[in-house]
Amino acid sequence: MGEKIKALRERIGEVRDLGAASAVLGWDQQVNMPPGGAQGRAYALATLSKLSHQKAVSDDMGETIEKAEAEAAQLDPDSDDARLVQKAKRDYLKDRKVPNEWVGEFTHVTTLGYQVWEKAREASDFDQFKPELEKIIALRRQYAEFFAPYDHIYDPLLDDYEPGMKTADVKTVFHQLRQEQVALVQATAESGVEIDDAIIHQPFDEEAQWSFGVEVIKAIGYDFERGRQDKSVHPFTTGFNPGDVRITTRIAPKFLNPALFGSIHECGHAMYEQGVNPAYARTPLDGGASLGFHESQSRMWENMVGRSRAFWNVFYSRLQSYFPEQFGAIDMETFYRAINKVEPSLIRVEADEATYNLHIMLRFELETALMEGSLAVADLPAAWNEKSEQLLGITPPNDKLGVLQDVHWSGGMVGYFPTYALGNLIAAQLWEKILVDIPDLEKHLNTGEFHVLLDWLRTNVHVYGAKYKPMELLERITGDSLQAEPYLRYLKAKFGDVYGL
Ligand code: ZN
Repeated sequence: MGEKIKALRERIGEVRDLGAASAVLGWDQQVNMPPGGAQGRAYALATLSKLSHQKAVSDDMGETIEKAEAEAAQLDPDSDDARLVQKAKRDYLKDRKVPNEWVGEFTHVTTLGYQVWEKAREASDFDQFKPELEKIIALRRQYAEFFAPYDHIYDPLLDDYEPGMKTADVKTVFHQLRQEQVALVQATAESGVEIDDAIIHQPFDEEAQWSFGVEVIKAIGYDFERGRQDKSVHPFTTGFNPGDVRITTRIAPKFLNPALFGSIHECGHAMYEQGVNPAYARTPLDGGASLGFHESQSRMWENMVGRSRAFWNVFYSRLQSYFPEQFGAIDMETFYRAINKVEPSLIRVEADEATYNLHIMLRFELETALMEGSLAVADLPAAWNEKSEQLLGITPPNDKLGVLQDVHWSGGMVGYFPTYALGNLIAAQLWEKILVDIPDLEKHLNTGEFHVLLDWLRTNVHVYGAKYKPMELLERITGDSLQAEPYLRYLKAKFGDVYGL
């Protein structure tokens, strides 16, 4: 590595260190911090984010990048160093457009916003959260303006989570998905097949839920030497460096799914980060290619693996031994059908695979309207309920089960939701390629050899971190651009079987 690129790595490493410190404070806020800590934490995080932003956009940084670019021009454009310099430049140009005061204010407002949301959600009272959300949406609209001109005001936000993706692209793919997914959900409802999922809605000892979840995520490959699991209101994954990638989970005392499938989901995210090339630590190539790619990993493990017969061939007897009263007399097929019941429901994170993307479309439509200014925050709960009726055929009885259910907006994460649906699509495209490369994958999964799948993901996806833009990575792996068909094929095959369509 040349001297100039080395200097750039060192300079960026310090920015990444400040980001890692903020992430630890953010993790602590959601896992350990008493409510009284909110004000002080908001100041601490705002100061760190301002410091990090100052360093990231300094003239020194600009010069260091320029010098490194001259050196990188001599390298293979596909080499890690050339890509690192390219990514550093892109991040720098974006960050430069954002004033430092805005960064501090945004961090402060969203840190407090999280605390207010948590209370408002508990009380199911949107009015408590409304003033905070108004500030957050105003700041987000301001942010988009830093990137004007744009095709759509939502584009600059989306680009932060899914580099290169445009609002128009999302609209196109959602349009195709919406028609076919609504038709599929309708077909399951009219199939005459009734699935009783009462067996997963009954009391489950909380410690046993925790222990079974840990057993599962260890077996599929989460490395506890380089991670840990805790509890939080809203489950998440956060990585401070490749040696410390943490997950959280939430245990529902009378519902098996949140802790079990939530743990597998977050584990999918964490295994991605644990698998990134260690040489990318403290550089912009660390972490995943995008949130869509991240979600492809979490949802692949949660659904394509965790809700498959192969997976339960391995784990069902273990589940029965943790919960003999609940499952001792239940056969595996009955359980398999219960965890794959299709039914429009209120909570996104608990939605089945066939209806899940409809929850995302609802949020995407509301977010774009908020950003365009055609929807006021005050009107959001009513708009939420109306869209819920349109897309899912149900109206939430209260805000807790409706507009207040997700953490994202409280943290200023507007533009994030589409990546969940994109993740489903990417996962299905990868899956088809995996089956070409490993035709007997199912045989391996049936015998608990999950490492066969994990090794493929490590080699083809994880190791590259953020070296490639998401759509470039997808194309390199599958030879194709983003497509809705593989996911629709997957849904139709799976639920066609479950519902005899
Ligand atoms: Zn996720």
